[in-house]
Amino acid sequence: MTTAIVWFRRDLRLADNPALSAAVAAHEKVLPLYIHAPGEDGEWAPGAASRWWLHHSLQGLDVSLRRHHGSLQILQILQGPTVDALRAAIEATGATAVYFNRLYEPKAIARDKAVRRALEGDGVEVASFNAALWCEPWDIATQQNEPYRVFTPFWRNLRTRIDEVAPVAEPKPMHLTTLPKTLSVDALGLLPTLDWARGFADWSPGEQGALEMLDLFADDAVGHYVEGRDIPARHGTSRLSPHLHFGEISPLQVAEGLRERVRKRKNGADIEPYLRQLGWREFGHHLLYHFPKTPKENFNPKFNAFRWEKRDAHALRRWKEGKTGIPIVDAGMRELWATGWMHNRVRMLVASLLTKNLRQHWLLGEKWFWDTLVDADLANNAMGWQWVAGSGADAAPYFRIFNPVTQSEKFDPDGTYIRRWVPELANAPGRLVHAPWEDEAFLKQSGYPRPLVDLKRSREDALTAYQSARGAPSAAGRAPEE
Ligand SMILES: Cc1cc2nc3c(=O)[nH]c(=O)nc-3n(C[C@H](O)[C@H](O)[C@H](O)COP(=O)(O)OP(=O)(O)OC[C@H]3O[C@@H](n4cnc5c(N)ncnc54)[C@H](O)[C@@H]3O)c2cc1C
Repeated sequence: MTTAIVWFRRDLRLADNPALSAAVAAHEKVLPLYIHAPGEDGEWAPGAASRWWLHHSLQGLDVSLRRHHGSLQILQILQGPTVDALRAAIEATGATAVYFNRLYEPKAIARDKAVRRALEGDGVEVASFNAALWCEPWDIATQQNEPYRVFTPFWRNLRTRIDEVAPVAEPKPMHLTTLPKTLSVDALGLLPTLDWARGFADWSPGEQGALEMLDLFADDAVGHYVEGRDIPARHGTSRLSPHLHFGEISPLQVAEGLRERVRKRKNGADIEPYLRQLGWREFGHHLLYHFPKTPKENFNPKFNAFRWEKRDAHALRRWKEGKTGIPIVDAGMRELWATGWMHNRVRMLVASLLTKNLRQHWLLGEKWFWDTLVDADLANNAMGWQWVAGSGADAAPYFRIFNPVTQSEKFDPDGTYIRRWVPELANAPGRLVHAPWEDEAFLKQSGYPRPLVDLKRSREDALTAYQSARGAPSAAGRAPEE
């Protein structure tokens, strides 16, 4: 009778879980194990919102395992490497193999290599699998055999491969085993001590919640994704990002699930634009794997000469609290605080205000998102911030500075989104919901703050700083104001 450990990490699901399926196929017994070792992630240990999600997702996985007459076994490593916990579990169960699904963050890669070396040295079989991506970062390259730096050719290549891979079903039956002593999810202390996450209650972390979210999206929004995805007041996107981050659903399952649902519902929805967006997630992982310093360093070294403003604690606080006096930005920052999530279009606008109008370093915004997003993801977050700041791979050119007022008028024309999140402006008449400072009397009686920054002047200052960094002639004349 052989036993294998399935070491769960960010693959918190039973279906389309190749490590779990392989372990069940090759061994009589399986120990489903989660090891909490936040110290190993260094400065990118999960932030507060991610920890909230993780708590509920682990509980969800435990419930699923109980359907198979087992339960999630949990160990914690506060000091020392994860391999100590694995060795303890091996000793307690007599396991001869450890199976896991791969991660792509630099610290996780280093840790997993060390674990493999140590366990193989002990004579334990170690097997790892791809459960998170359509295509692993090292399996796709340009014709010159280089990593991609530009999204469109990356996607063109990736698109030719994704129909070939299909998800695997939940393995049944499973014979699960336990440790003599395990921790409860509560014992990990993942929930915030602040009374903050009440507004997160609309989320349903876990594999079941991910499938429900997919269903909801397939019902209608997927068919209107191209127009709907930019309207923050609508449920026009899938909101699968935290589920994907924690591996409660895989991109293979999302693609196949959508195809199947669209076929059944005969609504003729075109899922291609949505698949392409999932391609950005793959691109983020590709970049992080090949350029592991991007969460902290400019992808484009030309930006190293850029003159950021000194850290401005007052401006940062107003930005974080959603009190900049720029309505669409404040709506986004308040949505983030209240729900742990923010619409993609608004993420771009809040990031643009911080990095361009306020000229605060993108790392400051990246860190705040890291702590407050339930979908905080090292690859996507670093790519998103560097894209907006202009320092990233295939980034928006620096001179493309979003004007939050015209963006707000375009994507939230009647101010539904702003009114929802900024109650001071709930009754703002017409255009004032986008630019309340245009009517002094209204601004005063609304109690809403005056803008933190002059949008026009700060835009010009940003362009000047950019030009002096690159030593180039003025780009201002050709700056498209989106
Ligand atoms: C400054 C900034 C920071 C960001 N930080 C994160 C982050 O920490 N985690 C994160 O998952 N996404 C991040 N994004 C990307 C994007 O905003 C979110 O993935 C998206 O809003 C999630 O909502 P959704 O699931 O409804 O997206 P959908 O529109 O339904 O897209 C489906 C999936 O595709 C992927 N995706 C979509 N757009 C992008 C994108 N631009 N880049 C990478 N992947 C994408 C996500 O996995 C998403 O769940 C960031 C974007 C910006 C501009």
